[in-house]
Amino acid sequence: MGIINCKNVSFSYEKSKVIDNISFEIEKSENVGIIGANGSGKTTLFKLLLGLENTTEGIIKIDNLEVKKGNLNEIRSKMGYLFQDSDNQLFMNTVEDEISFALYNYDIEENEIKNRVDYTLEKLDIKELKDRKIINLSGGEKKLVAIASIIAMKPEILLLDEPTNALDPKYRRIIIKILNDINCTKIIASHDLDMISKTCSRVIFIHKGKVIKIGNSKEVLSDEEFLRKYDL
Ligand code: ADP
Repeated sequence: MGIINCKNVSFSYEKSKVIDNISFEIEKSENVGIIGANGSGKTTLFKLLLGLENTTEGIIKIDNLEVKKGNLNEIRSKMGYLFQDSDNQLFMNTVEDEISFALYNYDIEENEIKNRVDYTLEKLDIKELKDRKIINLSGGEKKLVAIASIIAMKPEILLLDEPTNALDPKYRRIIIKILNDINCTKIIASHDLDMISKTCSRVIFIHKGKVIKIGNSKEVLSDEEFLRKYDL
């Protein structure tokens, strides 16, 4: 069984069905793109995977654990979630504090925390940001720090919501390289199809909450007629 398994999952906000009978499986270490126009349900799907919203029908399993009350701490300890807007993710004063914060909450020893912060900053090539105040960072720098704070936790699964949104070409390239350097299962939600083709081997195409197509990235993303039909 895959590390992520969704079976006949539906979800509604009040009366409107936003996720409509979705099923898919993702294997360990796979990089999968979730593509679809704005409002197609990508962010909602992430919230369901994290148990931030409850499915109205169907079952989601992460590493064979059903996403439901009682399992959420264990499930969330395996997952890292990159918010679409870094300003909603970052809340500490300095970069070092931000990356250390979650590690302190997990009772990791002081020395190990310092090592992990330095290792992560080095891996992302942002050592020079360590003592900077978050508030003074550029959008691209904030995105890198948000990724650093997640990677420091060594998640098994990374959920990334529009990781290249609003980034200039330089930071976009850096993010693509980092995504390819990190070894874990990744799900990347985006309508940046070029980034998806450079990072993901498979894509799940959703439209109005339904899975329209699942397939090899190159095949799906080269079908221009299909993409245009669904507003991408
Ligand atoms: P995407 O991430 O693909 O842009 P979303 O998952 O954010 O799509 O949204 C899917 C649909 O759910 C949209 O129609 C959106 O308006 C609706 N929606 C999102 N959040 C809420 C909410 N809190 N209450 C009601 N409707 C919502």
